[in-house]
Amino acid sequence: MIANYGYQDGSGEYYITIDTDRCLDCEGHWCVEACPQSLFLIEADDYDDEVATIVVSARKQLKEKCAGCKPAAGYETLPCTEACRPGALTHSW
Ligand code: SF4
Ligand code: SF4
Repeated sequence: MIANYGYQDGSGEYYITIDTDRCLDCEGHWCVEACPQSLFLIEADDYDDEVATIVVSARKQLKEKCAGCKPAAGYETLPCTEACRPGALTHSW
């Protein structure tokens, strides 16, 4: 399943997309440790599979929460996508 977490406003679209089929076989849940804002949680989905989700309280604040990891802050790659070996994560901005 493709799960989108985020929002859009007048300045753009701010979504983190998680391919939960790739999470199913993840051995390390590396996204949890990699994110300096602690945005990732590992939870059971509707099928009782352990997959990554985004903390509910942060889903409408991703532009601000992630700003420190973005190219404007000097990053060439994001800590979360870099850490996710199965390649389950993408950002829309
Ligand atoms: S590291 Fe990637 S594959 Fe593993 S739980 Fe996190 S998002 Fe899913
Ligand atoms: S960009 Fe940074 S703050 Fe945003 S989810 Fe990835 S690691 Fe966490």
